[in-house]
Amino acid sequence: MSRPGQQGPILVLNAGSSSIKFALFDTMLSPILSGMADGIGGASQLRIADTDFPQNLPTHEAALSAILTGLGQLGFQASTLRAAAHRVVHGGKNLTQPSQITPTIRQRIQANIPLAPLHNPHNLAAIDTLAKLAPDLPQFASFDTAFHATNPDVATHYAVPQQITDRGIRRYGFHGLSYASLVDLFPDLTSTPLPARVLALHLGNGASLCAIKDGRSVATTMGYSPLEGLTMGTRAGSLDANAVLRLVEEDGLDVTRDLLNSKSGLLGLSNGTSDMRALLAQGTAQADFAIEHFCYWAARHAGSMIAAMQGVDALVFTGGIGENSPEIRRRIVANLGWTGAGMDRAYNQSNALRLSPQTSRTPVWIVPAQEERKIAADALTLLAQGARF
Ligand code: ADP
Repeated sequence: MSRPGQQGPILVLNAGSSSIKFALFDTMLSPILSGMADGIGGASQLRIADTDFPQNLPTHEAALSAILTGLGQLGFQASTLRAAAHRVVHGGKNLTQPSQITPTIRQRIQANIPLAPLHNPHNLAAIDTLAKLAPDLPQFASFDTAFHATNPDVATHYAVPQQITDRGIRRYGFHGLSYASLVDLFPDLTSTPLPARVLALHLGNGASLCAIKDGRSVATTMGYSPLEGLTMGTRAGSLDANAVLRLVEEDGLDVTRDLLNSKSGLLGLSNGTSDMRALLAQGTAQADFAIEHFCYWAARHAGSMIAAMQGVDALVFTGGIGENSPEIRRRIVANLGWTGAGMDRAYNQSNALRLSPQTSRTPVWIVPAQEERKIAADALTLLAQGARF
């Protein structure tokens, strides 16, 4: 059976608690436009390409409806789209491949809500709403955890009894769509094959590292949730579970959850700023300490990733900080000089693709994060394989 939109663009959706980001890609994976419905349930607005549309968007359903109407006005009616493809944060143990949304897949995403209570419900709401608004549009999902499904058991298990692991208390890892797209894009972008052992550094508001061996994730710094690992914009990163227990005992669960996820990291250390660019501009002792903490712990965790690969052949930076901040890259690579990585000052300053001099034993690169393009690519692959619609 064919639909009118068989050659049409792919709509990529990333639904969060109060926003829905979206992008259209053509079937060659070139971006057509992107936008965001923001402030859902409050002071909301819809931005498509460079145009703002003040909108009353009390719910995700209202926001999706406004997005479809707005896209329709630009000539991209739902009936002309080839598919919708969602970023779903948590695939849990079972959802380790991009999938067409079927009742079974939907049910599994729902079953993973306890693993990602702040994320999966919004992804599911977008899927359900779109099914109502555009029932003929085939829908797909790519999972941010899936790339790490190749981690060995020894890397994913916490040292707790098996029955606790069986309840889903294990390490999953995140930023998987970013790392998967890095693996896909690296050879074309750099005109070199993907090195055997890559240390990938995704440094944004959320920050993690991934050990990529022969193109597959073998270790990553985020764990059961995106809280574990590096110092981040507002997340604390790794800290002793007994300290968490004491905080819960003294301050309660909700206060502690909010503290560790939303008030810690760079924000907590600097007493007010989670944004790296703003911190770098501040020049106060507190801001400098927050920056030093970020770089020191990125390098310490890098050591763990490199041990998991028994060495490293290249470093690749990505994410808002990784792609744009020469100073943060300089400090982290300086802490990793023992790996043979070096930086060319001018290349680094200009955010060049290759940051290291030709003489550097371990090259250092920037590969821009392209999660949305990867989600569209996954949907196109499934369509080409004959996904039903
Ligand atoms: P998210 O994890 O929310 O997707 P991003 O990947 O967009 O975040 O990264 C946001 C971070 O990147 C912010 O801390 C921001 O200050 C930082 N950043 C962006 N541009 C620069 C820059 N030129 N110098 C330093 N930091 C930057």
